[in-house]
Amino acid sequence: MKVLVTGGAGFVGSHVVEHLLRAGHEVVVVDDLRTGRRENLPPGVRLYALDILDPRMGEVFEQERPQVLSHHAAQASVAISLRDPELDARVNVVGTLKLLQYCVRTGVRHFVFASTGGAIYGEATAIPCPEDYPPRPISPYGVHKLCAEHHLLAWSALYGLRGTVLRYGNVYGPRQDPEGEAGVVAIFTATMLRGRPPVIFGDGLHTRDYVYVEDVAEANLRVIEQGVEGVYNIGTGVETSTRDLFDLLRELVGYRGEPVYGPPRPGDVRRIALDCRRASEAFGWHPRTPLREGLSRTVAWFRSRLGERP
Ligand code: NAD
Repeated sequence: MKVLVTGGAGFVGSHVVEHLLRAGHEVVVVDDLRTGRRENLPPGVRLYALDILDPRMGEVFEQERPQVLSHHAAQASVAISLRDPELDARVNVVGTLKLLQYCVRTGVRHFVFASTGGAIYGEATAIPCPEDYPPRPISPYGVHKLCAEHHLLAWSALYGLRGTVLRYGNVYGPRQDPEGEAGVVAIFTATMLRGRPPVIFGDGLHTRDYVYVEDVAEANLRVIEQGVEGVYNIGTGVETSTRDLFDLLRELVGYRGEPVYGPPRPGDVRRIALDCRRASEAFGWHPRTPLREGLSRTVAWFRSRLGERP
């Protein structure tokens, strides 16, 4: 199949690109490189360095005529969405809406949307949280991802475009940007490898569902190859507190210090984990990588990148 991956030079998108290529599909990438990097892409992949809001996107669709759109380009930080909610709406809502229109115009058959299970449900009382739990996001990022989901589902009903929403937990693994404001595993790992104490926002008891990036890429491959439609959580169902995550990473990095505690950040939910039984029933997907193993691979990758001894 020919798949256009937006955000394919970013963290999750680049792993999706790799999985698709390995399975023998043809891949084209659109990414304006605002947080992504060209080096994240395997050699030979065609990259259009364009903003998804750029009117030239229409020509990309006309020229490439993909069968599947894997939409990973996004403003992906809760903190930035609070500081600049309009930017978040432009990229995450209007950007998605524009892609939907190009898809219908050029006959794309399947639209797979990278959404968020971490930010869409809000302060859920059912944990692990199932897909049919009423979403009450508490950040512009969560609100806009939910809005984009609804556009996709409406578009599939209106125009017969196959629509899939994958609501990710906290994805971690190699190539996550440690300099950004999202991605606690990357930030903690890089900070401790540099011998500095990471900052925990809040009391350390906030919980998240950490899912390894290769498992997320595998879920993408399955829904594309099996033509699965619908809304699916992609996580592990396991809650891990920020303090426990810090302790695990500290041991793997070999850091001796304590973290610094800062005030909790607005927009961050207190607890979340995702019930992923629907994905397992619909397309046979299970998270394969235990947290310790995934973290250990991630630390090894950051070590090699930061020039440390393994
Ligand atoms: P990322 O920042 O590494 O990837 C986003 C990519 O999109 C980057 O390469 C960036 O350059 C590109 N991009 C951003 N705005 C663009 C625009 N207007 N036009 C073209 N390209 C643009 O972040 P990520 O963690 O890899 O996230 C990928 C997707 O997964 C996003 O949609 C995000 O909301 C979603 N997601 C991520 C997580 C996570 O834990 N990492 C959790 C839930 C959902």
